[in-house]
Amino acid sequence: MLEVGYLNLDNPIAITCSKDDFHGHHDSHELHDSNRFNGSAGLLILDDIDLDKVSLSDVEATLNEIKTASTLGFSVKCSRDEPLMEAARFAARNLYLMELDALSGMNAVRLSDLVKSIKRCGTTLSAKLSPEMLTEDLARALRNSGLDIIHLNLSGMNGTGPKMVKKISDQHGPRIMALGDIGDFEDAESLLAMGADLVSLHVPDPDFADWLSKTMKEYDHLSGWYNAPKHICSGGDLRGLAFCCPPVKQCPVLGALRRAGIAPEEFVNRKIKLAKGTPLENGEGTCFGSLVWCCKASKPCYLREAALRRAGLSDRDYMNLKRKLAEQLLKT
Ligand code: SF4
Ligand code: SF4
Repeated sequence: MLEVGYLNLDNPIAITCSKDDFHGHHDSHELHDSNRFNGSAGLLILDDIDLDKVSLSDVEATLNEIKTASTLGFSVKCSRDEPLMEAARFAARNLYLMELDALSGMNAVRLSDLVKSIKRCGTTLSAKLSPEMLTEDLARALRNSGLDIIHLNLSGMNGTGPKMVKKISDQHGPRIMALGDIGDFEDAESLLAMGADLVSLHVPDPDFADWLSKTMKEYDHLSGWYNAPKHICSGGDLRGLAFCCPPVKQCPVLGALRRAGIAPEEFVNRKIKLAKGTPLENGEGTCFGSLVWCCKASKPCYLREAALRRAGLSDRDYMNLKRKLAEQLLKT
């Protein structure tokens, strides 16, 4: 469903947990079991590793013990660079995600230097940050450094998490993994709809993580776009331009185009060009004569539905095409 570097994830749910979450709770049989998270999540990240205190071979041993079908990763910090570089080579060899845990005060210069060096090892890399750390300078440096994922700690943000995700998503940098207080499908979806590619849960209830992973997979299968944005006029991020009409009247599309750095005429030309030769080009009977200008499948419209039927497209095919369109439209 989701390719990031050499990782191929089956769904957008990630679980983070420390070694102690698998072991060390002597009063619980369940927690002794390294199959505690049974592998339905797309990604399982072994968290909270301080390479000043534990060796890489310990990390390797723990990772080897975890029996899961999920793709594996590990999240590390260290006051010295060399152990981190060694971890980067280890991650690349084993196709693990490596994460630099910058939450406990790694400064921006060291972080961007490390990201550049680690990326030279061919490692698929995430950096765990809080939104306050992500200044414009750091965001720019990370965009240019080849970082694959920004793991954004949004816990305790009381509902402002989706807004934060939108702001960062609109900068078109690395993929976004949002760590939030997720209690149900809607909590996860509100972050995904604003441009998060992944949602991470810290030591979740295993049954909930299992349910959410499967539900997300099914949702993607049915809808064709698990993290589809809202329309721009409903507060969606810039990917929502894929659903916008030609900018012929005063509406929020103009502001969105300004933010995206695309002139209105250029937007019209780009959309027409990208639709050419694809099933989106057609759309007789719709408002603007082409499906490339049409709204989300979740907005009922008999004109679009008739055009889709004529073209032999399901809603899922349609949303999949819009997903590709959004990616191409925003490519700089
Ligand atoms: S162009 Fe259409 S979809 Fe886009 S913001 Fe304006 S009214 Fe909404
Ligand atoms: S035809 Fe329907 S889906 Fe297409 S732009 Fe008009 S209202 Fe939106």
